[in-house]
Amino acid sequence: HFITFEGGEGAGKTTILHSLSQKLEKQGFDVIATREPGGIEISEQIRKVILDPQNTKMEERTEALLYAAARRQHLVEKVLPALEQGKIVLCDRFIDSSLAYQGYARGLGIDEVFAINQFAIKDCMPAITLFFDITPEKGLERIASNKDRERNRLDLENLVFHERVYEGYQKVIEKFPNRISTINADQSLENVELDAMARIDAYLKK
Ligand code: C5P
Ligand code: MG
Repeated sequence: HFITFEGGEGAGKTTILHSLSQKLEKQGFDVIATREPGGIEISEQIRKVILDPQNTKMEERTEALLYAAARRQHLVEKVLPALEQGKIVLCDRFIDSSLAYQGYARGLGIDEVFAINQFAIKDCMPAITLFFDITPEKGLERIASNKDRERNRLDLENLVFHERVYEGYQKVIEKFPNRISTINADQSLENVELDAMARIDAYLKK
């Protein structure tokens, strides 16, 4: 059961992923919670390179390829073995982030970025994906008020960029309407969590 969490900054993905992981474990499921880019040593190293605020010269295609490379290694080392053991894998971001950020917001083209990612993942797409829906304005407000959050290169991007990311996600949802469910993330964390859990429950009972 491969389940991915998607959305712009400040949507609550990470927080909710960890609390749902604990809830599912209490229900007796074997769960791993992981993230992209990262999740294992090599991919965390690649993450550092991509997000380093010093690396202001990184070119778009380089960035897209690094995300795909980090994805490949994380999939092979961590996600696929867990899926083979019958575990539920909850992953903070996956291919749809690349399609929305690099494909659409950076202008590389959703289909082109999808092609390099198909090379990276073969046919290992998520079973379901939750898109945490919040306007970029509100998401960025939440981030600004969270002082514990690590700063990265993307913090240099302006609201216009994050609006393009949001638009990009809408295109990605049009491309994969059956896989991706939209969760209203502009509510209290408790309610966002309840909606997300209901979607996962419905999938697991199918
Ligand atoms: O999800 P998280 O906040 O940890 O992501 C780290 C950063 O990487 C974010 O600022 C996000 O916007 C950026 N990112 C990106 N392209 C991706 C995935 C993440 O620009 N494909
Ligand atoms: Mg996060």
